[in-house]
Amino acid sequence: MPEVQEEVNVKSVVRKSKLWMPKRVIITPAALQEPWGQQMYERVKSLGLPVEELKQNRLTGLRGEDERETYRKAKNTLAIVTAPASAFKLQPIPPSADYQFHLAEGCPAHCQYCYLAGSLQGPPVIRAFANLPAILENLKNYRKPGQVTTFEASCYTDPLGIEHVTGSLSETIRFFGEQENMHLRWVSKFDQVDGLLPLAHNGNTHPRLSLNTDFVAARMEGGTASVDARIAAIRKLAMPKVLGGGGYKVGIVLAPIMPLPDWQDQYTYLLDRLEQALNFSCEVTFELITHRFTPGSKALLQEWYPNTSIDFDESTRSLKFNKFGGKKFVYPAVTMNMLRSFFQSELKHRFPDAPILYWT
Ligand code: SF4
Repeated sequence: MPEVQEEVNVKSVVRKSKLWMPKRVIITPAALQEPWGQQMYERVKSLGLPVEELKQNRLTGLRGEDERETYRKAKNTLAIVTAPASAFKLQPIPPSADYQFHLAEGCPAHCQYCYLAGSLQGPPVIRAFANLPAILENLKNYRKPGQVTTFEASCYTDPLGIEHVTGSLSETIRFFGEQENMHLRWVSKFDQVDGLLPLAHNGNTHPRLSLNTDFVAARMEGGTASVDARIAAIRKLAMPKVLGGGGYKVGIVLAPIMPLPDWQDQYTYLLDRLEQALNFSCEVTFELITHRFTPGSKALLQEWYPNTSIDFDESTRSLKFNKFGGKKFVYPAVTMNMLRSFFQSELKHRFPDAPILYWT
């Protein structure tokens, strides 16, 4: 790939994501006692949003009259809370990283296939954790001696999508920048990366952007940045610091891959633009995830998005069981093989040095 000749300035017209502004912000007494909770409180107030101080630490009154009303209210609510004790007992998260941890739970976007559906308890309120310093400090206990330990921060949230109201992602990148043998991984469908470019990450943060065809992004990923905006964000993150970029090793998560009509053309068009945007020397990785669903996620998503165009037809899928006996529906082997060979071959000739970390 030729060396870049220009500063960070992607010229294509892009639809930036609209910053999420919650209609309701609540803070618990415990969160208000935390210095990081106060930082978020001030940040939210400076955005002109009123903050309700709760009298108790339990969140109540979050439900509407039905699931859709509950969903609508919850997705417009930011709750600043302290993470429970369970957040300090980290769980492995293969194949993405050694461990997962959480800066927040819940996400302001509206993806009709959302991975969180059914994973989190209760209404999908966005809960931002006020005891962030303790959460970060605890990660050191999970460092594996003599090797790099990786920590994934986006299993239960999109940390970039709420960064303007939390500041927690920047703080986490700074923290990892000061650690040895600890790497941070996060993924997003948003594009407001400018504040992350000057941070001293020291190569210890591996940001990824989730990409899909324009059709999937426009029809099924409400509230997120357009594909072009995400590609522009990746370019900024990967661009060397001397050229005004972030100098990060970056990643692309192609997910969820769906063989919709014209899928080869649409994914080819996506990869063409990505290749063009990363036309300079940089480190990039790929993760490839096909669409899947469980009976629980299907039921909830169909309640949240009754007019969804997602294909939830079990009869065209193969049934798989996880190690706890839970069911999931994936594409049959013949479709999987067709998709896999397409992406492997397209990526190999466009990004010959970029590893595909996994296919699933
Ligand atoms: S960005 Fe991720 S977490 Fe947020 S709604 Fe979409 S799939 Fe769910």
